Amino acid sequence: MHSRSSPHVVVVGAGIVGAAAAFFLEAAGARVTLVEAEAPAAGATGASDGAVSVASKRPGPMMALALEARAFYRELAARGVLEGLFHPRSTFLLARGDEEASLLERHGADLAAAGERVVARSAVDLRRLLPGLGASVTAGIEVPDDGHAIGYEITARFLARSRPALRRATPVRALKLRGDRVAGVVTAQGEIAADRVIVAAGIGSAVLIGLGDVLVPRKGQMAVTDRAQPSGPAIGGHLMAATYLAAKRGISLDKPHIGLVIDPLVTGQFLIGGSREENRSDRRTDAATIAAILREALDFYPPLAGRRVIRTFAGIRTACRDGLPIVGPHPAVDGLVVATGFEGDGICLGPLMGACAARLALGEAPATDVSVLSPRRFAVREVAQ
Ligand SMILES: Cc1cc2nc3c(=O)[nH]c(=O)nc-3n(C[C@H](O)[C@H](O)[C@H](O)COP(=O)(O)OP(=O)(O)OC[C@H]3O[C@@H](n4cnc5c(N)ncnc54)[C@H](O)[C@@H]3O)c2cc1C
Repeated sequence: MHSRSSPHVVVVGAGIVGAAAAFFLEAAGARVTLVEAEAPAAGATGASDGAVSVASKRPGPMMALALEARAFYRELAARGVLEGLFHPRSTFLLARGDEEASLLERHGADLAAAGERVVARSAVDLRRLLPGLGASVTAGIEVPDDGHAIGYEITARFLARSRPALRRATPVRALKLRGDRVAGVVTAQGEIAADRVIVAAGIGSAVLIGLGDVLVPRKGQMAVTDRAQPSGPAIGGHLMAATYLAAKRGISLDKPHIGLVIDPLVTGQFLIGGSREENRSDRRTDAATIAAILREALDFYPPLAGRRVIRTFAGIRTACRDGLPIVGPHPAVDGLVVATGFEGDGICLGPLMGACAARLALGEAPATDVSVLSPRRFAVREVAQ
């Protein structure tokens, strides 16, 4: 129950991060209004893959945060909040040739140093574990403790379990300020007063918080197949090309435009992606890019030739210039908390980052140290008001 003294918090954006923040705010006794330009999961959250993966992270803060974020999924699943929505499975990082194999070796050492279980796999091992694997795959490593979750399902669950006042089709145009303190938001349908505001609006955050030149859209196209079997993942893990890792680690290999992942879903389908198209924020798919993704996928896993592609889609990742998300109190506006810039990692990080943003909005220290993600690391321009 809310008391009269409960703070009223407006959360801008009903993606996975905003929905998680709303859930944890309500659990802490706050009154929450979730203001969404379109509908829940209308942004990247509803147009993504759902690797809850430590294997794919750059060494350093992202790997450390992903370890905590994945453990948080397990905890929330065990507590019943996300019961049935988190699916443990291995990630197989795959190399074609010596250059990629040495990258995997280095990455495996970084994962092990961070405390992650890693199993080196020979080509023979890989073919036993993943029958049908392409002849060009020469080596790999298995990361057995990763998982998968569908972003829009997680979002819907957080909303169903917290029931914040949800304002759909209500774009926030500006923040309402009183002096150097936030006092609410200005929407197309009028003002909403608030004691605190969390901006978790993905790429839409940039204009609201004065960080326009720091956030960059990065489009990703993906394809979905029919079912290889009636239910259950059709292969024993998530396949991820070394080129995907190279893109994450900022290393240039031969095909930086496509970081291939082949994700066997619990429905028996495959989700295949994805392109990494810098500065693109349209959501069109195109034949040339989808063809390039599928060619790569067939090289890694030829049995896909027997599948029908039933859908293609594109989503927009919100990338931050320095490769780290932005989570923390706004440097110039009291009562304003920012949570954006999760690029291709927000399904993994989303629940934990939403929980951290909620604690920060209530003036409490989050359970996870997110100081490295603080917006204070950038010069903030004028906030929209
Ligand atoms: C192709 C692709 C594949 C991906 N694969 C993975 C993966 O395997 N694993 C992983 O962890 N991550 C993955 N991601 C990344 C992940 O989807 C995002 O990082 C995550 O969804 C970001 O969530 P969010 O809540 O920050 O933003 P969003 O989901 O973009 O939500 C922001 C919301 O804010 C709303 N909004 C915007 N502006 C306003 C405004 N002015 N007023 C009100 N509302 C507003 C939008 O409508 C939207 O609903 C992938 C992304 C893509 C595109």
